[in-house]
Formats: sequence, C-alpha cells, structure tokens
Amino acid sequence: MPAKTTSAVVTSALPYANGEIHLGHIASTYLPADIFTRFSRLNGREIYHICASDDFGTPILIKAEKEKKTPAEYVEYWNKRDYDDFTALGISFDSFYKTSSNENVRFVTEVFEKLSKNGHIYDQTVIQFYCTFDDKFLPDRYVIGKCPYCGAENQYSDLCEKCGRVPDQILEPKCAICGRPPVKKESKHYFFRLSSFGQRLKDWLNSNGHLQNDVRNYVINWIDEGLQDWDITRDLSWGVPIPLPEAKGKVLYGWFDNHLCYISTLKKLVSEKKGEDGKKFWNDSEIYHFIGKDIVYHHYLFLPAMRLGIDSEYKLPDYIPTRGHLMLQNQKISKSRNWYIGLRDFISSFNPDYLRFYIASVVTYSQDDLNFDFDGFYEKINNELIANVGNFVNRALSFTQKSFSSKVPEPLNKADDVQNETLSTVVESGELLAKNEIDRALKRILKYSNFMNQYFQANAPWANKDTAATTIYVSVNSARSMAILLEPYIPFSCEKIWSQLNLGGTVHEQKWESAKERGVAAGHQLGKIEPIFRKIEAKEIAQWKEKLGKK
Ligand SMILES: [Zn+2]
Ligand SMILES: [Zn+2]
Repeated sequence: MPAKTTSAVVTSALPYANGEIHLGHIASTYLPADIFTRFSRLNGREIYHICASDDFGTPILIKAEKEKKTPAEYVEYWNKRDYDDFTALGISFDSFYKTSSNENVRFVTEVFEKLSKNGHIYDQTVIQFYCTFDDKFLPDRYVIGKCPYCGAENQYSDLCEKCGRVPDQILEPKCAICGRPPVKKESKHYFFRLSSFGQRLKDWLNSNGHLQNDVRNYVINWIDEGLQDWDITRDLSWGVPIPLPEAKGKVLYGWFDNHLCYISTLKKLVSEKKGEDGKKFWNDSEIYHFIGKDIVYHHYLFLPAMRLGIDSEYKLPDYIPTRGHLMLQNQKISKSRNWYIGLRDFISSFNPDYLRFYIASVVTYSQDDLNFDFDGFYEKINNELIANVGNFVNRALSFTQKSFSSKVPEPLNKADDVQNETLSTVVESGELLAKNEIDRALKRILKYSNFMNQYFQANAPWANKDTAATTIYVSVNSARSMAILLEPYIPFSCEKIWSQLNLGGTVHEQKWESAKERGVAAGHQLGKIEPIFRKIEAKEIAQWKEKLGKK
C-alpha cells in the first residue's frame, strides 16, 4: 500500500474536563492517534490532529459548585492541565480547543436548527425530579439516594459507585445540593429521532470498507434490535442553550455537542492557518475518529446519524479506529480504589518515551483489552528499547567518536546486505503503520535494530582494522534510518539521536522514505555523543507496585 497523499483529519475522543488524564486514556486513544499522525506527517501528508476538552454537563457543574468556581473557570483549569499533560507525553495536537468555545456553541446551534428543520427533532413531556427549595430540575447526578441493588447510601441516581450498576429507580431520593427530597414534575424535552436512521446507518456501515469488522457487526446487531430516540435535553444552566424561545433554561445533552467540536475546531484551524473554508477541507480529507470501545455507540450511530440528518453537509468518518481498555496489573483501572496511574505522576518518574514505547508495543488494532504490567514494562524498556535500540545507536556513534574522532569514515565497499534489510524495513513497517498496525510495525523496526546489533557484533570493528571503516559508515547510517522510523514512537529520544548525528534541522521534519537512503556522508562530523537512555532500576518498579491500591 503506497503512502496516502490525500489530506486527513485525525480526531481523538475528547477528555471530560473534570479530572486528570491517566494511562487508560493514553493507551486506547491519544497515543495511537499521535503515532499515526506523526507517521503521516513524515510521509508529507497534510494532516491535522484535533482534540478539545469536553466542557459541559452535570458532573462539571457539581464539581465547580463544590470548588466555588464558575463552571467556565473550572473547565479552563482542566483544559490547560490536560493540554500540558498531553504535550509532556509528546502528543502533538494541531489544535486542542474546547466544546464551550463560541465557535462550537455557534456550530452546534446551527446543527440543531438544521436537524429541526429537517424533521429529526421532536418534543415530548417527561417526568423529572425537581427541587422546590432550589427551584430547579435535577438531572441525573443531582439526585442521590440509596442503591436498590446493594443498599449503598449516597449514590448518584444514574450510577452506583459501590456496585457499578445503573439503578432503575434510586431509593430515598435526595437533592444533591440541599439534601431535601425532590418532587416529580413535568418538563418538556427534545428528542433526536435516531430510530428513523436505522436503514441508512446500516447502509453506511456496510459500504464503509475501512471499519473494523467485529465492531461493525455488533453495531449492526444493535440496529437490528431497534434504535431508541435520544433525549438530547438537560434542565441545566451549563451547556449549549437549546435555540428555541420555549426552551428557556434547557441545554443540549453533552453527547449532542461534543463530537461536533471535531468539526468546529477543524474549521477554525483551517481558516486561521490556511485562510480556507474548513468545510471543503473536511469533505476533501480522509476523516479518522480515534476512540476507545466505551464510546462505540456514540461514534458509530449517534454521530453519523446526526451528520446524515444535516444532509451529509460534513462527510461521515472514513475510519473509526477503536481500541480496548487498558487494565492495570490485570485488574480494572479504578480511581476510587487507587488502582490507577495518573499520567503526570508517571512521566515525572519515567522518560515519556518509555511509556510510549511500552504501550505501542502492546496496543493491538482491535477491541481486545490490553494490560499494563510493571514487570513487562521493566523488561521491555531495559531489554528491548535500551539493550536493542539504545545499545546499537550508542555503540555505532561512540565508536565513531573514539576511533575516528567523530568523523564518519569513508567505506571501502558500499555494497552489502544491510541495505536490503534497511529497504524492506522501511517498506514493511510503513505498510503496517498506514494500516494502523502500530504494534506490528514497531516489532518490524525492532527486528531491524536486532539485525544491526548482530551486524556490528559480527563485523567487530574493534578487531578488524581493514573493514572497520565500512562497518561504522553503514552503522551510523542505520542509526539515522532508525531515528526516522522510530520518530512516531519515541519522538524525544529520536530528537536526541538526530542531534548527536548533527545533521541539522529536526527529525520530525524528515521524510519517511528518506530512511531508505544513506543520508550521512563520509567525512561528516558527529555531534556530542551521550547515552540516549537510562535503565530502569528494579527498586523503582517495586515502589510503584507498592503504591497501587493504597489510599
Ligand atoms: Zn449499588
Ligand atoms: Zn435542593
């Protein structure tokens, strides 16, 4: 498969603006999206990686009230914090915006109006909890009570955190703000006619050959079982107001507005960066929505149905790369049990590339859950990244420094079997990356690194004076190729290799195909050579394991 030349838009599912990014988020969504984007950039493809904080909804309103902040102030904090954390991990967004932006609110309003005009929205009266003391309707998280399943007190009406079940009807309901029992009152709600899109969704799912088969099949099963219309109304102050005079005090449900932020953010970026129409760019590009499997329903049904409902003014996704959840030491991640690792905490202890490398090596292109295992992490970093890649690069460059005063020697004979291996590595790993097979592509590159270690060892430049110049010339050039091939995976370390190679510019702006070439000429002077990596010590791993599950 040749590298694609059409432009592309990559989106990563939006993090909810009420808590820190943890390892689970990274593994299913942001890292795979970043690796794919970086690879595409090296191929010279015009590609934009879009993301935003998901700012609206009840949980945020409640937390903001608790912290005595306005919701806007509250989400501003998390927007910045998330962006900083992502950046520290090398996730290279072209735009990280927010669902509460004016641009998004305006766009969501337009979409609602168009759906309404096309007959896809209707209203209906529903019975809802209402607090007469606070004088407001109490959606989901504003009602707490006793779980009907396990009897736990003070649980949300839409989720028992003790037993993890969703109560049908919470017992002894209380208003979460004042603690008084609420009454039931009628409220007018607006519904999106998802049920009428079944056949069109099915046609689209069947005609799109890029979707993962297992996901497609069970989404089609859901359609066959019959789709329910979506209540898209919340009686809240924090959200996109429903643009109807009779809907005062009502806002749109977060899942109505958040995925529209992919489009509104891209439009803003394209108009600012290129002075062009974002709609045209969107429709001329291949669209990739990277998600975790927990939001399949929203991305395979709700999102495409809404786009169909506005006459496909914005094209439907070409790809929805969907991946499984991350387990931690083979157990489910849980913040309340502290079975959980915050991103910021983790990369303050370890090189961010170590996390990227480890996750990339275990993340398959499927919905299978993957596992973060501390012993596996320790072994992969020390034995594969450091003992394989780090060892080869450092040996090649230090030998040049020591024996040739850092000047790349003139080879006696350029023809050798390394060149064939370099070519096939670039081609094969590139084909895998283009297909989103991140883990398999990495394996292929590591096989190359292993091959180069054996080459270096077998040719023993320290003992063979007559062939040493050729061995070193070939090895330095392979180190350069590896820096390019590994850039999507370990960008910070590849930057270091690039600077030690002293080739000018940055590794991020190189061409993937140029990894086939011998881009370091004989006579070239290397920069300052240092080890690229630091080994992980067993005691660091022991400390991390110790912390897990402790309050
Ligand atoms: Zn319960
Ligand atoms: Zn109340």
